[in-house]
Amino acid sequence: MAVWPSPTRMTKPELLTVAQALAIVLDSVAPLGSERVALLDALGRVLAEPVIAADSLPPFANSSMDGYALRAADLVGAGPEAGVRLRVVADIAAGAPSAVALTPGTAARIMTGAPLPPGADAVVPVEDTDEPWRDHDRPLPEVVAVRRAVGPGDYVRYPGEDIRAGQTVLAAGHVVRPQEIGVLASLGIERVAVVRRPRAGVLATGDELIEVSAPLTPGKIRNSNGYAQAAQVRALGGEAIMLGIAGDTEAAVRQRLDAGVAAGVDLLISSAGVSVGAYDVVKAVLSAAGNVAFWRVRMRPGKPLAFGRYRGVPLLGLPGNPVSAMVSFERFARPAILKMAGRRELERPRVAVTVLEDLHSDGRESYLRAVVSRDERGYVATTTGSQGSHLMTSLVNANALLVVPEGVTTVAKGTVLQALMIDWPGEVF
Ligand code: AMP
Ligand code: MG
Repeated sequence: MAVWPSPTRMTKPELLTVAQALAIVLDSVAPLGSERVALLDALGRVLAEPVIAADSLPPFANSSMDGYALRAADLVGAGPEAGVRLRVVADIAAGAPSAVALTPGTAARIMTGAPLPPGADAVVPVEDTDEPWRDHDRPLPEVVAVRRAVGPGDYVRYPGEDIRAGQTVLAAGHVVRPQEIGVLASLGIERVAVVRRPRAGVLATGDELIEVSAPLTPGKIRNSNGYAQAAQVRALGGEAIMLGIAGDTEAAVRQRLDAGVAAGVDLLISSAGVSVGAYDVVKAVLSAAGNVAFWRVRMRPGKPLAFGRYRGVPLLGLPGNPVSAMVSFERFARPAILKMAGRRELERPRVAVTVLEDLHSDGRESYLRAVVSRDERGYVATTTGSQGSHLMTSLVNANALLVVPEGVTTVAKGTVLQALMIDWPGEVF
């Protein structure tokens, strides 16, 4: 189990780098237990157990073409001008094995995927015969002329060529994509052991917040973070449990967090109330809970970040500004949730991009909302304009977070920076 930072080490506020804070978050979460789900529900999940093949694939020797199954030795000398005539003794459709064994000088009409008859060792495609018809209604010819020589094994798919019975086909930890679903289906696996979906309780805090359905009244704003973070959880394959809005009192925050704990969440995610204002109650609740890490992270946007355990459940207190909350989720909650889900790759793809404008930063590791595209110069990036952490549209218009490294305050146009791809749309690339 992960080592939790000792309370003494973490009681006073520290100014951490993103990497340090992330390491502590990741150290304190572990992959969850497993459950068995229906085959299709395994999509996007991580295998909790290795998959061992009970059958070979293909399960039997079969034809890869519509054509004639035959004995390759019978075709010596066959060519476009010199057809070898074979007596047709069987007609084998897919799904219907033939008991007729081929003897020298005979052939069987065979469809793609149909079992090779005993005695046959090769197939000749129908196009290389004088019988170029494929439809099932076509009467079986008595004799077929083959205009091409083939070697033993040609156009035959052998049993176990893809997967051998007894083989470990997929290791534990493998991510199930559509192709894995196909493999599992062909092996007759109806239920799959996968790592449980992380369940995250999502709480918004602040006296200014009202429900999405409520009309705006003076001084109030709608709770957008609750929905944005729940969506971020879902986008990772996690289950989001909405804990609603807590006003700026410790009692209100505790009550909502308690509801999350009672619901059995694996992780609590809150927004706002973690900076140094008088009403920063998430921080106060976590401090009172004892096992707490409260940090300032050298990151922009999103300097304040609370992390600790609330009644045993890891709690990540994101900053309140919507962009800060989403970017902090990206950097800390996303890898934590993916780790819980059993994933090994926890980071977004990174691309080296040439920036097309001069950039400024305050020396903190900065995540600028940007559009990365590709032109004759390779991957290039422009920011989505004004970078205020209250400007949701800066993220809406972005497909990447451009990383200005720690300590850098000016970036000249033409510099190459890393971009974290939050989207990789096909049209752009
Ligand atoms: P705070 O961290 O409480 O100082 O909040 C920082 C900013 O984020 C303030 O402008 C808040 O109104 C805003 N904010 C906090 N929570 C939310 C939320 N759930 N949805 C939208 N904005 C929020
Ligand atoms: Mg507040």
